[in-house]
Amino acid sequence: MRRLIIAGNWKMYKNISESLELTNGLKRELYDIENIDIVLCPVFTSLASVSEVLTDSNIQLGAQDVYWQKEGAFTGEISASMLKDAGCLFVIIGHSERRQYFSESNQSVNQKLKAVLESGMAPIVCVGETLKQREANKTLDIIKEQLQEGLEGISAEDAGRLIIAYEPVWAIGTGKNATATQAEEVHAYIRSLLEKIYTKDIAASIRIQYGGSVKPGNIEELMQQPDIDGALVGGASLNVDSFSEIIKISQRVRK
Ligand code: PEP
Repeated sequence: MRRLIIAGNWKMYKNISESLELTNGLKRELYDIENIDIVLCPVFTSLASVSEVLTDSNIQLGAQDVYWQKEGAFTGEISASMLKDAGCLFVIIGHSERRQYFSESNQSVNQKLKAVLESGMAPIVCVGETLKQREANKTLDIIKEQLQEGLEGISAEDAGRLIIAYEPVWAIGTGKNATATQAEEVHAYIRSLLEKIYTKDIAASIRIQYGGSVKPGNIEELMQQPDIDGALVGGASLNVDSFSEIIKISQRVRK
């Protein structure tokens, strides 16, 4: 059985003191959760302070992006080893907002993925179709292209550390989530692709999160699906009550 992983993507919200307040609230609510990997992904400036508060807790730290070079004259960028130094164990790569607003491509995703794996952290690789692509029946083709190009050259040995997040772009921040059936269809397809790229065993071990307007009201049905192994949560992760509720419901469903 794959261990659930639920990550909060705080996007460009919360300064340092607000990040610490949210982190402390979540620690209080979630201290007894044992069977779920809980990950918080604050803005870069909050990473080191949040990391300190998370010491010896059951909550782990992740970053929202990374640059693939180790160091150098790359103004504004941050390397995998710097994120690790700040306490990160996970890094989100290829979020649709980065693809949409910051020219992220499958090729840059691939370079970032290699840098994160080399650093020893675990990458959360985001894939997903736009509404136009879904309406044109292109969803599976898009997912296939994003995965094949994004995972190019990633060894079977490293693949075990991958986490894939299926995030239909039309469901992110819109309040419109994919139905559990729509999500499961794509998750099962992603697993079948991973089987082709790697092996059945490796594909069975890779965790696939769903992301897109996840909230306490829809998490139960999503977590009941066999190929959904957790969630990447945006808006609802910015609040102690809603994020804790999502995690507690998931624990109950998958116990
Ligand atoms: C996200 O940021 O990855 C996300 C899924 O956002 P939201 O939950 O707000 O749709």
